[in-house]
Amino acid sequence: MRQLTKNVFVETQIRGCNHGFVVTSDGIVLIDTPHKPSDAVKLKTEIAKYGTLRYIINTEPHGDHWTGNAFFDVPVIAQEGVRQRILATDVKAHVARVGGFGPLEPSLLVGYRPNAPIITFKSGMTLHVGEHTFEMIHMPGHTAFQAAICVKEEGVVFTSDNIFHKVQTWLQEANPDQWLDSLELLRELKEEIFVPGHGDICGKSYLNEQADFIREWKSYVLQAVDLGMGRAEAVDRLTAMTQRYPMDIGQDGMAPGVMKMNVANLYDFLTAPRALAPVP
Ligand SMILES: [Zn+2]
Repeated sequence: MRQLTKNVFVETQIRGCNHGFVVTSDGIVLIDTPHKPSDAVKLKTEIAKYGTLRYIINTEPHGDHWTGNAFFDVPVIAQEGVRQRILATDVKAHVARVGGFGPLEPSLLVGYRPNAPIITFKSGMTLHVGEHTFEMIHMPGHTAFQAAICVKEEGVVFTSDNIFHKVQTWLQEANPDQWLDSLELLRELKEEIFVPGHGDICGKSYLNEQADFIREWKSYVLQAVDLGMGRAEAVDRLTAMTQRYPMDIGQDGMAPGVMKMNVANLYDFLTAPRALAPVP
């Protein structure tokens, strides 16, 4: 873990999403949790040095953000859709996959039950712990259920996977238009330090690059649609984006599969029937 500001500590160097905790005058708030159970257990020891954990906030529904929740006995807060997705998870399949992350994992996963959010919000909510204010804002894009978590007193925002900083962007269930809108919302925030979902710490200067890449992805798939390429053919042939950024830590070898998922999702998005715009 590295100290980012006076009271914010973050982890950006291990497999899974970036996560961090905030030390308040009345205990600790953890934002997202490790993907690997053994990392969650280590984090628990680390947090204990700073005080008592009070809450976990999850920024999105993907397993790399919430699998570790289960190793902490505190209430979890998230956007309502995150709760629904965690409750709908095939736990057996999830445990089988996570168990493959390392030799220590299977024994830690015995009797695994996800710690799903019990406090949820739709468009946003504010949590006050000690002297700290956590403002949660629904920002759909990477999925429909993303939230940005602003730690007001520290000038820090946990952006969720709406930002992949200099690592490959996953668009496997993204709505690219909402995503671009959410990047503009991030730009309008007062806070300047961004903890992205993946990649190193960044700031508002990266928003243009992230937005350009989403636009580029969209037009790349749109070209194939306009050429009359079928979905399967597009998924098979559109591989040019694979080399644009490295994959995040622990995702080696996953690039071709991720690119196929991205193409399939954007193809569906671009070809979905939509209400016709009114004639001006
Ligand atoms: Zn994600």
